[in-house]
Amino acid sequence: MSLRPDTGDAQPSVSTPGSLESWFASLQQACRLEAERGFGDLMGRHETFSSFVARNLDAPPSDLTPDAVRSLMPLAAAFSRYRLEDLGRRQHLLRQLRQGLHQVRVQNRPALPVAPPRLRLLNAPGGPGGGGMPPARGSGSSLPPSSPYASATPSGTSGSADRASLPLLAGTPLAEVPGIGPRTATQLAGLGLLVVGDLIAHYPRDYLDYANLVRIAALVPGRTATVVATVRRCHAFSSPRNPNLSILELHLQDSTGRLRVSRFFAGRRFSSPGWLKSQQRQFSPGTTVAVSGLVKETAYGPAFSDPLLEVLESAGAPVRSPLIGRLVPVYGLTEGLRAETLRRAIQAVLPHLERWNDPLPEALRLRLALLPRQRALRGIHQPTDQADLQASRRRLVFDEFLLLQLGLAQRRQKLRQRPAPALDPPPGGADLVGQLRTILPFPFTGAQDRVLAEIRHDLARPQPMARLLQGDVGSGKTVVALAALLCAIEAGCQGALMAPTEVLAEQHLAKLAHWLPQLHVSCALLTGSTPARRRRELLQDLINGQLQILVGTHALLEDPVQFDRLGLVVVDEQHRFGVRQRNRLLAKGLQPHLLTMTATPIPRTLALSVHGDLDVSQIDELPPGRTPIRTRLLRSGERQEAWELVREQVALGQRAYVVLPLVEDSEKLDLRSAVEEHRHLAEEVFADLRVGLLHGRLSSEAKQTAIGAFARGESQVLVSTTVVEVGVDVPEASVMVIEHAERFGLAQLHQLRGRVGRGAAASHCLLLHGGNNADARQRLEVLVRSTDGFEIAEMDLRLRGPGQVLGTKQSGLPDLALASLTDDADLLEKARELAQELVAADPALEAHPGLRQALLDQRQRQLEAARLN
Ligand code: ADP
Ligand code: MG
Repeated sequence: MSLRPDTGDAQPSVSTPGSLESWFASLQQACRLEAERGFGDLMGRHETFSSFVARNLDAPPSDLTPDAVRSLMPLAAAFSRYRLEDLGRRQHLLRQLRQGLHQVRVQNRPALPVAPPRLRLLNAPGGPGGGGMPPARGSGSSLPPSSPYASATPSGTSGSADRASLPLLAGTPLAEVPGIGPRTATQLAGLGLLVVGDLIAHYPRDYLDYANLVRIAALVPGRTATVVATVRRCHAFSSPRNPNLSILELHLQDSTGRLRVSRFFAGRRFSSPGWLKSQQRQFSPGTTVAVSGLVKETAYGPAFSDPLLEVLESAGAPVRSPLIGRLVPVYGLTEGLRAETLRRAIQAVLPHLERWNDPLPEALRLRLALLPRQRALRGIHQPTDQADLQASRRRLVFDEFLLLQLGLAQRRQKLRQRPAPALDPPPGGADLVGQLRTILPFPFTGAQDRVLAEIRHDLARPQPMARLLQGDVGSGKTVVALAALLCAIEAGCQGALMAPTEVLAEQHLAKLAHWLPQLHVSCALLTGSTPARRRRELLQDLINGQLQILVGTHALLEDPVQFDRLGLVVVDEQHRFGVRQRNRLLAKGLQPHLLTMTATPIPRTLALSVHGDLDVSQIDELPPGRTPIRTRLLRSGERQEAWELVREQVALGQRAYVVLPLVEDSEKLDLRSAVEEHRHLAEEVFADLRVGLLHGRLSSEAKQTAIGAFARGESQVLVSTTVVEVGVDVPEASVMVIEHAERFGLAQLHQLRGRVGRGAAASHCLLLHGGNNADARQRLEVLVRSTDGFEIAEMDLRLRGPGQVLGTKQSGLPDLALASLTDDADLLEKARELAQELVAADPALEAHPGLRQALLDQRQRQLEAARLN
């Protein structure tokens, strides 16, 4: 693993061997990922985070000094127990590791020559002759270009003695910043902040709004504010109960009202009569003061408790405090690092930003009405007011989106450049799609027709289609996919249909096997559990072109599956497939057209961010004649009602699902609960009915048997884990009971609910929940109100964030620090437009070196993250 680009280059690497540097870097990178992913003991490709750390600390590189080894040793032992620790302890350990690594790394760095003392001379510096001091560096136009995002290296600076006057670049180690001492640098390292770029990107978590300047009468309890007022009375005294505590009480007034302020001073020295007197003098009646703090409501009216306080020479005099009257940033901190220290470190760096270049050309920047990036970085850390903060945030959010969209636009461009077979059914051919229409028992909906036309238009071109088909549960995506596959067959190619689970793959095959023989098109199923002999036959038929449509799971990716002439790949439930898998499929021989389908609609912003390299088609209409599903919330205690409804419906000839959550971490536990629930229902509640059981651990055969029995009505109740979430299609099922509904995401519940309401009968969805948590209940209410998958997905995104909406395993989630996919949709659209414009005119971004570099840096970071992951 190589160094993170912005940590390394600024240090001379001549005398520190590469292996040691990369040992540090890989550990630091691992720390960063672990912290970013929430201290869950990240599972890497080969081992967990903690075992990676323990292993590396146990066997440090040979050139690490014995002292360093001794100081890191205890951590190796601690990390071998990391897994068992709670969150707080894990955070603590990680911080210790980060600080330890930082210190050892600093000690291992070769000593730099000490600069000679500098004298302030009257004449201008840099005059000829004498002392050999070079003219001040970093002034004037000889500065190396530096990207604010990037790891620009100062050219020829290694070994330079004159650090203080070097330009600060993103890659400059924090310890080398004038104004940041070694202790502070170590503390910052504990937060993973190693170089200037890290510190600048450590954006405030929040702001205290002391810029809210108001008159006393307008103070609002619970809000922060600043007032300027006159002292009416002042009382400084030591607490009668605690001699170590002194209290300063001020009564203030302005033209609108009166206000009390108290400040508390702990410590003996504050109890001395001399000190108390001095306070009394300082705040004598008539003095003007500025006060910033949180407004409290008391019996005597509004009050400030322990606010910031400064005496002003007059009402119009400037305030000296850097905090009073401003928006004060609040940072995510670490134990032992004071807010003030972090603020000061950032202050030390901010003035240097002025010299950084803006990667966005000015013309574009003005067109988009954005601040220069340098100003935005300053504004996010040190806003002059709300407007400045918002404008700064906008610029930085735009940049995050722009990088994301540039990457996607380049991918899309690359995808388009490769040739693909044009799948244009020959005129006068068999018209397989037309034939399909005649044998289907229903006409296509308008939306299905429109989407099919979009797909056929893409297929007919000699560039590969990359299209995402979104449609709500039950909107009829499968027949559209089938029609697209038939286009490929008719054009003399083969097709593949991939599903995330065997159950779903088998269902797809069952459906296809129903229609395709009538059209004289061959199809077969290939999954992980296909017997070896059958598999050999299939692969043979595939290579010689006899097999036209192959249905399968991921096994299609893993296996040496070779097609004769693969024209179209359909991937169902796309959000289950990582980008990497998608690329793997595309790498298989011929460049096929690609149609991906999601049944869990995802909000447009998320779709653009994750699938921005795809075109999007949307089926926004359900087939006619569906009766809406009635959804109700029930407390766990009201379970009996659910069972009664199940009974009622079964008596009418319908069927019911009972679904239990399956949380990945505790698969075994949930498995037991499914088995247990099945026993309970089969033996006690529905002893007179047949109750089936379906879960992920069953063999594929057993799964198929369970679903088959339920589909044929041999069992009337099916207890299942979320295996039924996707695609399972039994029209007679009219009740869906979901246990522990609060543990599911809304989109997932909507997806589960879509398993019923597929026939003519009125259907029901009952959500059983713990009942104690008001938030959870409110979230579930969304499902009662809405049946629109897009609206629900939007709510899910708002309530739970993109990681949850896409599923935790999803890689390729955008790397956004400030941007919000729910609130910044307008900026996302703008960034996307610009990215497409730039890439269309200049695919490699030759004309925009700043952007290109930023993109390279980001890609490098993601690559390293992926390698560790
Ligand atoms: P999804 O989009 O969730 O994958 P499916 O493709 O499984 O939905 O279709 C759901 C059900 O609707 C299937 O039983 C399918 O046969 C049926 N269906 C699809 N299109 C239509 C249509 N135009 N009219 C009536 N029923 C349809
Ligand atoms: Mg489907």
